[in-house]
Amino acid sequence: SSIFAAVEMAPRDPILGLNEAFNADTRSHKVNLGVGVYYDDNGKIPLLAAVKAAEKARLEAMPPRGYQPIEGPASYTQAVQNLLLGADSELIAAGRVVTAQALGGTGALKIGGDFLKRLNPSAKVYISDPSWENHRALFEAAGFQVENYPYYDAATRGVNFAGMKDCLLGLDAGSVIILHACCHNPTGADLSDAQWAEVVEICRERGLVPFLDMAYQGFAEGIEPDAVAVRLFSASGLQFFVSSSFSKSFSLYGERVGALSIITASKEESGRVLSQLKRVIRTNYSNPPIHGGAVVAAVLSSTELRQMWEDELAGMRDRIRAMRSGLVDAIKAQNVAQDFSFVIQQRGMFSYTGLTAAQVERMKDEFGIYAVSTGRICLAALNSKNIGYVAEAIAQVVK
Ligand code: PLP
Repeated sequence: SSIFAAVEMAPRDPILGLNEAFNADTRSHKVNLGVGVYYDDNGKIPLLAAVKAAEKARLEAMPPRGYQPIEGPASYTQAVQNLLLGADSELIAAGRVVTAQALGGTGALKIGGDFLKRLNPSAKVYISDPSWENHRALFEAAGFQVENYPYYDAATRGVNFAGMKDCLLGLDAGSVIILHACCHNPTGADLSDAQWAEVVEICRERGLVPFLDMAYQGFAEGIEPDAVAVRLFSASGLQFFVSSSFSKSFSLYGERVGALSIITASKEESGRVLSQLKRVIRTNYSNPPIHGGAVVAAVLSSTELRQMWEDELAGMRDRIRAMRSGLVDAIKAQNVAQDFSFVIQQRGMFSYTGLTAAQVERMKDEFGIYAVSTGRICLAALNSKNIGYVAEAIAQVVK
């Protein structure tokens, strides 16, 4: 018999299942709000002009395709550090930042998880309740026990900060805390700057290991303000991890561009940490692919392309915000009693709308509008053509 005879079918990824059902739907007015991707007003994934210009220059130069350094080229890792910590960062100058190119934000979490497991095999990992669904799976696959810390408060549609603090204060030293650096996925509810400062102090007091996941830098307020959590941890003198993703901010999803940065206590420590991180990478995929990282490095290190990119990123951010307020206004115009203005306060690509699983089901059955059963919708899938229709559908199901 086959060596695969006993292989069981793995459970389906709920979001991929949603996409399959959407693709099979023949209604022409259907809308997919279940995605985690930025679409422009024409419903297309944009190819940014800054990316296009950097790609054109690269292809014209026809560079050879040798192996990259295991941690990626310095042109890329330095650009990532400057973006996260600021070009004038004392940590960078002191050699206290180790950065490795990674296969998207997911790849950064993966190599970070594998490295942490070697560092402290008995530690537990804590993720927000709720969190991006892959956080749990990634750290469990690295061999960790993964638990939740309280995060979202459905009643206030904000963060249950008292609950979160209580939980963190009770954790064992060495526990790994996964924190969404900005634009929390899936809720859109972020900590305030003052709350971040408190989290930093709790991590110090309790000896926790902070791991910041930065997948949406630039999507809330801008590149600098969205780095506030990273900057507060930098100023604290603590050691911490940051995963970066450029999937959304450069619209480079399939190129798999990301990075893992580890802030250490000294330059000498950085050398040892990097040597171990390189072993993790070498036994995973040896060294990173060239193209996406080269494009991001070229954009970030050219004054002209960087400005172009910042303007395009601001355009994406502003369009999402316009969709937030547009949706709230359009729902209100349908004479709905329920107040949806909280959608404007939420940050990033997503909103926890408060729609129940039954209401989400009705949106799909009656209107061809697809959302995650938790009520999460992607604001970047709304556009000037479908926003009115989506607002009508929401009004119908909540009335
Ligand atoms: N972390 C969070 C919170 C995300 O939402 C995502 C993508 O949706 C990622 C990480 C992974 O990003 P990437 O596609 O670069 O692997």
